[in-house]
Amino acid sequence: MDKRNNSDIRIGFYICHCGTNIAAMVDCPAVAKYVAQLPNVALSRDYKYMCSDPGQEMIQKDIKEHNLNRIVVASCSPLLHEHTFRGAVEAGGLNPFFFHMVNIREHDSWVHTNKEEATKKAMALARAAIQRVAMHKTLEVKKVPIHPDVLVVGGGIAGIHAAMTLANAGKKVFLVEREPSIGGHMAKFDKTFPTLDCAACILTPKMSSVGSHPNITLMTYSEVTKVDGYVGNYTVNVKRKPRYVNEDLCTGCQECISGCIFKEPRFRDEFNEGLGKRKPIYIPFPQATPQVVVIDPNVCSNFKNGVLTDKCKKSCATACGDKKAIDFTQKEKLQEIKVGTIIVATGFKTFDAKRMPQYGYGRCKNVYTALEIERLVNASGPTAGHVVTRDGKEPKSIGIIHCVGSRDKKTNRWCSRVCCMYSMKLAHLLKEHTGAAIYNFYIDIRAPGKGYEEFYDKMLEEGVNFIRGRVGEVTDWAMTPEEEGKLIVRVEDTLAGFTRRIPLDMVVLASGLEPQADAQDVRRMFNMSCGSEGFFLERHPKLAPVNTFNDGIYIAGCCQGPRDIPDTVAQAGAAAAEAMALIDKGHIEQEPNTAYVIAEECCGCKSCVPLCPYTAITFDLTQQKAVINEALCKGCGTCVASCPSGSIVQNLFDDEEIFSEIDGVLANE
Ligand SMILES: Cc1cc2nc3c(=O)[nH]c(=O)nc-3n(C[C@H](O)[C@H](O)[C@H](O)COP(=O)(O)OP(=O)(O)OC[C@H]3O[C@@H](n4cnc5c(N)ncnc54)[C@H](O)[C@@H]3O)c2cc1C
Repeated sequence: MDKRNNSDIRIGFYICHCGTNIAAMVDCPAVAKYVAQLPNVALSRDYKYMCSDPGQEMIQKDIKEHNLNRIVVASCSPLLHEHTFRGAVEAGGLNPFFFHMVNIREHDSWVHTNKEEATKKAMALARAAIQRVAMHKTLEVKKVPIHPDVLVVGGGIAGIHAAMTLANAGKKVFLVEREPSIGGHMAKFDKTFPTLDCAACILTPKMSSVGSHPNITLMTYSEVTKVDGYVGNYTVNVKRKPRYVNEDLCTGCQECISGCIFKEPRFRDEFNEGLGKRKPIYIPFPQATPQVVVIDPNVCSNFKNGVLTDKCKKSCATACGDKKAIDFTQKEKLQEIKVGTIIVATGFKTFDAKRMPQYGYGRCKNVYTALEIERLVNASGPTAGHVVTRDGKEPKSIGIIHCVGSRDKKTNRWCSRVCCMYSMKLAHLLKEHTGAAIYNFYIDIRAPGKGYEEFYDKMLEEGVNFIRGRVGEVTDWAMTPEEEGKLIVRVEDTLAGFTRRIPLDMVVLASGLEPQADAQDVRRMFNMSCGSEGFFLERHPKLAPVNTFNDGIYIAGCCQGPRDIPDTVAQAGAAAAEAMALIDKGHIEQEPNTAYVIAEECCGCKSCVPLCPYTAITFDLTQQKAVINEALCKGCGTCVASCPSGSIVQNLFDDEEIFSEIDGVLANE
């Protein structure tokens, strides 16, 4: 039976103006009039907003009143509203897959400038859809049960908040953090803008709640190495790095640290940004969670090139005594966990200031990064909050350079969103600690949060100097006796209209925020996408800001882009809510656009098996046939295109449907 001209098929066609997004470039009434006379079309309309309630109700009413059995909507991207219209078609009493959507916005009106040609293209696309939809078959959405446990990757404030929200709602959570303690960047701060509340006072209670929560399994010093499965049913491998300390036996008493043969700390302390020293056995910071020490095999005398030597006679183990928590035999181990949903909250790294040598970092000893200053002003930092320069003097004048590695075509184009605010916070703290004259060198002040502009006003009232202009260079080349021993900042003061040389005792570089160095590896592992700058990409910037293109995997915090703590926490809560909504539904609905093998026609060549990017195809050795796991299949069509015997078919994309569409678009009617 030729369905292309069949009186049993009654198609309803709707073209959306999308305000003026489509209507400005496509003559919508003309397209509707054209489609009305195509075979099988029972009704054709144009309407201002098809996605609105009245638009959807119109489809439902027409299905009943005009006895329609196929629907085509020509509007925006299916990514945005295919589900909306399928819902309307189903509510009208039809199988939701007797529907096809044509994208005449992104594919037509937005990319053309000639209205006549764009209208012709819309007609061709509509004609193709009309011919295709006639071939559509009834399909059913499958329901697959969802595993109720959640994996959260990254234990910064985003991961902590997401894990706590889920755990408090009764969900079991695995929180995986690669450092020995959770806390992320926030754990390094003394105060937070704009309220200047103590960071530790708000963060550490949350950290210890995570550590003791019955619903949270905390896996620190660990990394995810493999993710298999699909939304609702993921199998995850977690690599547990050896601490050489038994987490269950260690009480955090730190006697082992005192017992270490290195009587004085002498190795780079990462938590203090290298401004302090630690021993080979250490606890990263006083409030670390878990309160468990860790041994660094790279510097511990008991190891040489990673191999146990027993050289120091395990003095830490002796100091540990009967607790017997030190365990030099520990090996890296892999742990497998099963979860239904995943929240990725792996945060950011700061821009490497050495990439801008003109600012002297690493060359001029009194040039610091903002993170170093965070530790220097911190009461629990390497100098107990006493601010002295690297040559041991209390600074009398300090410059803070904004936008280092941000808003710059040569480095990163984006605004890092928090640097203006944290620079002003550091200005306040440095002034409070030293009484020094503070100069902020800025391009323009970006303070768009609640209470942020007021904080800027407060800084002006406190007498912090603001000089508008991008700093040209920072040197230690004195030209006058007053400049001797100082850092010289050369800047074009764009408000005063001349170039200035300002001698200072200390310079702070407000480095911007960047994606983590391994963001691409993490992206690949979780099958997510990255934007051009390298941060993880959300499914939709406005409507799905914590979803990714991989269902069941959500993102939160600075791994998605620079943001402050309030926004990070809000986003983490949203990601937890999304995960919970999925879990509480109890099942996931699986799109039926999956591929299947016609067993009788499969020649058993196995060529499809390695090609599947979702590892959905296995080979049945007994039957000598390829088998597709529908739950894993994402409907990408790679196997269909590659199958030499043509024995793989994809629902919604079978030959009849595709060739009808091609005939339709090429027909010159
Ligand atoms: C100098 C400076 C000062 C700031 N001051 C303020 C302030 O006063 N107020 C404010 O609101 N905001 C401030 N911010 C911004 C604030 O730091 C961020 O908003 C916040 O830290 C974002 O939290 P996060 O959890 O997304 O990321 P992070 O804090 O970066 O945490 C990410 C966590 O994930 C872990 N991780 C990374 N990759 C992996 C992996 N593959 N597997 C497992 N774990 C992983 C990391 O070890 C880390 O613990 C400041 C930023 C800077 C640079």
